[in-house]
Amino acid sequence: MYLNHIVEAIGNTPLVKLNKVTEGIRGTVLAKVEYFNPGNSVKDRMAFKMIEDAEKAGLIKPGGTIIEGTSGNTGMGLALAAIAKGYKCIFTMSDKQGKEKQDILKAVGAQVIVCPTDVAPTDPRSYYSVARKLNAEIPNSFYPNQYDNLSNTAANYESTGPEIWTQTDGKVTHLACGVGTGGTICGISQYLKEQNPNVFALGLDTYGSVFKKYKETGIFDETEIYPYKTEGIGEDILPQNVNFDLIDMFLKVSDQDAAVMTRRLAKEEGLFVGWSCGSAVHGALEYAKEHLKEDDILVVVLPDHGTRYLGKIYNDDWMREQGWL
Ligand code: PMP
Repeated sequence: MYLNHIVEAIGNTPLVKLNKVTEGIRGTVLAKVEYFNPGNSVKDRMAFKMIEDAEKAGLIKPGGTIIEGTSGNTGMGLALAAIAKGYKCIFTMSDKQGKEKQDILKAVGAQVIVCPTDVAPTDPRSYYSVARKLNAEIPNSFYPNQYDNLSNTAANYESTGPEIWTQTDGKVTHLACGVGTGGTICGISQYLKEQNPNVFALGLDTYGSVFKKYKETGIFDETEIYPYKTEGIGEDILPQNVNFDLIDMFLKVSDQDAAVMTRRLAKEEGLFVGWSCGSAVHGALEYAKEHLKEDDILVVVLPDHGTRYLGKIYNDDWMREQGWL
């Protein structure tokens, strides 16, 4: 029994009960542990599908170059797809991302261009703008644009959602998920709500991001935008993959609460996961404390692995510098 290529190992990740951090909570909290994907994150699913769909639509040809703005995980997924299918990769990344993420992408053969974080998305120096410019300049290049490419949501609708439904025997009542591009939560939520319209989808947002206020007021409030440290969730734009009808409620989680919960997941649950996993679990438990009932089953998605955060939240000196330890 073997796979013909590592990309065939994408998906079918385990669902694992949280036992310690959930003390005092009624109901069951299960974690969808996405670091079991070959690129160590949930983004393998959508990256592979964006490339497959682009091939079908004739948007990328053999020998082409994939160009994307990515915080690292999508880049890893795209790099694996590129290796499987024979493409080159160039990724633009903001300078707030951990250096590990750049090195990992270089290890799998991608070229990485680091861009400043604290500029507007429309600024020519932003990682969005640089990716678009390269796409315009380089012949036979394809810019997947994970924010607005609906193959992103579709990948989670076709794989992650059905997996969670089957793994819980159709008993899942709540979904909790950090929101960046929105593809993970919206794909899963759409599938689960089609099976059972009563499934509740909780989106976790960051302080410094526009989502929660937009959901509650319909206003894109620029005063909500300011720098924060959590990687992978929260946005200063409204991506097309965020379908607010599929997200029932948003909660914001601070950088510190997320970091502290991530470290607890590693020490108390044996789940050596990434920073936004702490955001998702902290927010999910805050909601669960008030609302979860005995028979409820909440599934929280843990997007990636802890190795990418060794220099930050898993580094005691760094944590002390932040005043978080
Ligand atoms: N956590 C991490 C670490 C991520 O890289 C991402 C992707 N930006 C997310 C959470 C959010 O997932 P999505 O983009 O599907 O909303």
